[in-house]
Amino acid sequence: MSDRLPGFSTLAVHAGAQPDPTTGARATPIYQTTSFVFNDADHAASLFGLQAFGNIYTRIGNPTNAVLEERVAALEGGTAALAVASGHAAQVVVLQQLLQPGDEFIAARKLYGGSINQFTHAFKSFGWNVVWADPDDIASFERAVTPRTKAIFIESIANPAGSITDIEAISTVARKAGVPLIVDNTLASPYLIRPIDHGADIVVHSLTKFLGGHGNSLGGIIVDAGTFDWSTGGKYPMLSEPRPEYHGIRLQETFGNFAFAIACRVLGLRDLGPALSPFNAFMILTGIETLPLRMQRHCDNAKAVAEFLAGHPAVASVSYAGLPSDKYNQLARKYAPKGAGAVFTFSLKGGYDAGVNLVSKLQLFSHLANVGDTRSLVIHPASTTHSQLDDAAKVKSGAGPDVVRLSVGIEDKEDLIADLEQALGA
Ligand SMILES: *Cc1c(COP(=O)(O)O)cnc(C)c1O
Repeated sequence: MSDRLPGFSTLAVHAGAQPDPTTGARATPIYQTTSFVFNDADHAASLFGLQAFGNIYTRIGNPTNAVLEERVAALEGGTAALAVASGHAAQVVVLQQLLQPGDEFIAARKLYGGSINQFTHAFKSFGWNVVWADPDDIASFERAVTPRTKAIFIESIANPAGSITDIEAISTVARKAGVPLIVDNTLASPYLIRPIDHGADIVVHSLTKFLGGHGNSLGGIIVDAGTFDWSTGGKYPMLSEPRPEYHGIRLQETFGNFAFAIACRVLGLRDLGPALSPFNAFMILTGIETLPLRMQRHCDNAKAVAEFLAGHPAVASVSYAGLPSDKYNQLARKYAPKGAGAVFTFSLKGGYDAGVNLVSKLQLFSHLANVGDTRSLVIHPASTTHSQLDDAAKVKSGAGPDVVRLSVGIEDKEDLIADLEQALGA
């Protein structure tokens, strides 16, 4: 073996996996079992007391899921990871370790619509209060900090317009406030952006999107950067104080730079229960093997489609950070030099009716509410996901009546452009 560190594409295929020690199976087997036999009574007791690592029950951990966890931790440059049932489950489990009832967290206003709903409504019933800030105005994050602030949450490439967030600037605010920065890296994937390299303390993903990549399996993951000191000032009692569930151990003291991932598993996943099925872990692992190839193709196709749209007479404007004229192009060059992702919006001169008409005429683009599939996807937010908002609120959230959102797939770009051309022209 050479002492060269493996590159990203090699990690995407190999990290965390080895031939199955009992059967020699080369692909990672699906360990479709709920539970695991203990060696003896002492072994069982040490597993339950967190004195030894091992498998107990698939709600807490599973060997197929463990390969997925190691692989994504390696790709993101973190110390450890925890796979869960969905991206939304990852967000609940992360915040449950950080917030007590009455606490606050600051979130960027530009987010996946489901996250806006989860933060605004569901989390309120837990007593967790979201305070919104504008990712284009870093000072708005500083102004939002209070003594009850426990975390800052942003997306690296943000929904719906594919805007690029200045992760380093916001990580400076988080450090000054003494709170961790959580980055939802779903739209970028670690192939385009590794938030930990820019100061993120925790990375979350919806594995459902580009990492799984084929629109066939839900999943989520939490990556611990190992960078945050949880012991200061009693601010994070789940990590710093003795845990009655585990004979009084303190997680930070016992597990050091992967204590957060352990807390998410043994306090969050164990007790809240959103476990990932080993079958889905297998599907997502298979997807990750081709992540670098797919992601580059997604980006190259998205750029070609954005350029075509920018030159079309029916199109009023295109928001794609990969275009040199775009407001976010400088940030894209810094944070995502390989490509600005594949999700972006454009607006039509013909307004609402033109948006509805375009969506109904497209043939290759599927009209649905998802992103990060091999297939190209389209949605007209004003008539679907954002139809409940009034006109002013639609415009504010980037979903005005004239706006169409694309998730560009990995088909031949000429076919995608021809489909858009016939739908726009007719
Ligand atoms: C889809 C998505 C989520 C939620 O993930 P699920 O797997 O659907 O629960 C969160 N953040 C972003 C950016 C997403 O695209």
